[in-house]
Amino acid sequence: MLITQLKDKDVITSLVNGVAFIINCHGCKEIYFPEEEAKVLQKEMAMAGKVSGIVTTDYICNPDNLKLQLEAYKDEIEEADGVLVFSCGVGVQTVAEVLGDKHVYAACDTLQLPGFQGVTPLEYDCGQCGECYLNLTGGICPITACSKSLVNGPCGGTKCGKCEVDPTMECGWERIYQRLKAQNRLDVLKFPTRMHDFSTDMVTKVTKEVPEEATEVTE
Ligand code: SF4
Ligand code: SF4
Repeated sequence: MLITQLKDKDVITSLVNGVAFIINCHGCKEIYFPEEEAKVLQKEMAMAGKVSGIVTTDYICNPDNLKLQLEAYKDEIEEADGVLVFSCGVGVQTVAEVLGDKHVYAACDTLQLPGFQGVTPLEYDCGQCGECYLNLTGGICPITACSKSLVNGPCGGTKCGKCEVDPTMECGWERIYQRLKAQNRLDVLKFPTRMHDFSTDMVTKVTKEVPEEATEVTE
C-alpha cells in the first residue's frame, strides 16, 4: 500500500502559471488519497478562475484507459497552461507521457507503506520516495528511471543515451533532458539541486492522519 499526500497548498497553486486542467485519480484501494482536502483546494482554485476543467477517474496508470478518459476534455486541456495531477507518482508519469509536450505537474507526494502496491507499469515505476521530484524532471522519475536514483544527474557514465550500469536501458537523465528540451524548460536544470528528504518523519506523520480502515490488510 502507499499513501499520497498533498504538497503544500502554496506549492500546488504556484506550479501552473495561469490556468490548470486537473486530473484526480481515485484508482485503486492500495492507495490512500486525501480526497476531501483535494476537493477543497480545487474548489478554491476554480473559484479564482484558475481551472479550465477537472476530471476524476480511476486507474490513470493505464495509458489506454487514460487516453479514453481524456478524449472528452481535449479543449479544456488545450486551453490550460499546465496539467495538475492528484495521484501517486505512477499516475503523474503516465499523464506526462500521454500528453507529450504539455507541462504536467505532481500535486502530491507519494509515501510507502508495507503491503501490496497494485499493478504498476514498469515504464512508469515509482519508488514511493516521499518528496516527489517529478515537477523538476518533466514528469520522468529520477529515482526509478536512473540506475543510481540520482536527483542531480546525469552521472559521468552515460554514453550515446544509454546507462552505464545497464547499457540495454536508456539513461533516465538523458530522457529527462530530452523531455525538458522538447518542452522548452531546460531552465529547470539550472536550479540548485536540493537535498532529497528521505527522512521517515513524514511517513510517521502522514500515517497518523490516515484512517485506520485505510491501512487494514484484506485477505
Ligand atoms: S520522485 Fe519518483 S519515486 Fe519519488 S514519489 Fe515521485 S515518482 Fe515516486
Ligand atoms: S548513465 Fe544515466 S541512468 Fe545510468 S546511472 Fe548514470 S545518470 Fe543514471
